[in-house]
Amino acid sequence: MTSLLLPIILTALATPNVVFLSVDTLRADHMGSYGFHRNTTPNLDRLAEDALLFEDAICEQPQTGPSLIAMLSSRVPRVTGAIRNGVPLPSGTPTVAMLFQEGGYETAAIVSNWNLKKNLSGLDRGFANYDADFGKRWWGRKRHEMTADVVTDRALSWLEQRDREKPFFFWVHYMDPHAPYKNKRGFEKQLHGETQTKKANAKSPQDRYQTEIAFVDQEIQRLLDALPKEDTYILFTADHGESLGEHGYWGHTRYIYQATMHIPLFIQGPGINPVRIDRPVRGIDIGPTLLGLAGLVPTASMTGMDLRKTLPEANAPRIFETYGGSVPKGEDVREALATRPPRRQGIIQDGWKLIQNESGDRELYHITEDPAEEHNLVTKHPEKAAALAVLLEDWHQRTPRNQSTAQDLSEDDLQMLEANGYL
Ligand SMILES: [Zn+2]
Repeated sequence: MTSLLLPIILTALATPNVVFLSVDTLRADHMGSYGFHRNTTPNLDRLAEDALLFEDAICEQPQTGPSLIAMLSSRVPRVTGAIRNGVPLPSGTPTVAMLFQEGGYETAAIVSNWNLKKNLSGLDRGFANYDADFGKRWWGRKRHEMTADVVTDRALSWLEQRDREKPFFFWVHYMDPHAPYKNKRGFEKQLHGETQTKKANAKSPQDRYQTEIAFVDQEIQRLLDALPKEDTYILFTADHGESLGEHGYWGHTRYIYQATMHIPLFIQGPGINPVRIDRPVRGIDIGPTLLGLAGLVPTASMTGMDLRKTLPEANAPRIFETYGGSVPKGEDVREALATRPPRRQGIIQDGWKLIQNESGDRELYHITEDPAEEHNLVTKHPEKAAALAVLLEDWHQRTPRNQSTAQDLSEDDLQMLEANGYL
């Protein structure tokens, strides 16, 4: 794959701070900067106005653990074996945080999703401070998320206490838009406009989801206000999107339609000119890009691109798969998590998208003309479906699957995975 030089000029900051900001379950198309009709993300949109923004970014897999592990190891899930929530990155695989730490950076993470806990993700390696403490039980059950106000409070206190002699790499992960969608009061006017406020009180699940996005956006602004301005890069993204009833499906994980695959991605900071890029980029590109912002070099194992320097060709294919769905009763959960075959595989190229289902059925969409994927063209364009299927099969052969293990799951972990529908 050839690449081209980006038309941006970076001022050479010797050791800038790098902030990796991620929001769970945030569909790109629900942000103003990606064309949403409601004012869900005014603060992030303002940040995006000054940013190098990628219009066509997808996650590697629409599930928290596999997606963020792919971003921070820059390897696709099938290669690391971290293919489902609860299956961590194997200990021998280097991560972005490890390279920042080796590069003399102060490293810290605050993660608000149970699936990112140390034993479930393996992502704590390289972070001197990895805050995944969900606190006490609540109504007899473990909490499995932290709300955005708590995440920002903890982020601010880390920023206060950090070693000011060193630059920092700081990952902050927000969780609120993830189901269950809770209505966050006080955002009616922002979302619906002044005149609509009374009517807007009847809350659909979509409305509640939007209030959670607006709440996160507000809390992210509190964090942005506290960051050093002159020498800090911010890379913003989401681990995956969310299906809000499209194709009769609520949630993420099982399907690979664009509602769950398309993620926001932008970089803001010193010397970055605001440009919108429509090239096909992906989750594994985030690791090398974060490192590149600090002038650090990815390991040879990292397969993504530093998007600050190079871009994929416009017709570069992107291939992905999901292993989601329930584990049948009677199977050993730890074993099944790590070894079950992919449920769906997909390929996107030149505006076309082929989905290959476990059953062998295929779906073909022209996603630039039909972004909602409503018109399956597989019988109308069998030659296109066949050509994409050849590329998919070729990738399958070239990309052997490795296996990780999920042996350290506690009873609390299993309860959380079950409560969230991952088992
Ligand atoms: Zn997630």
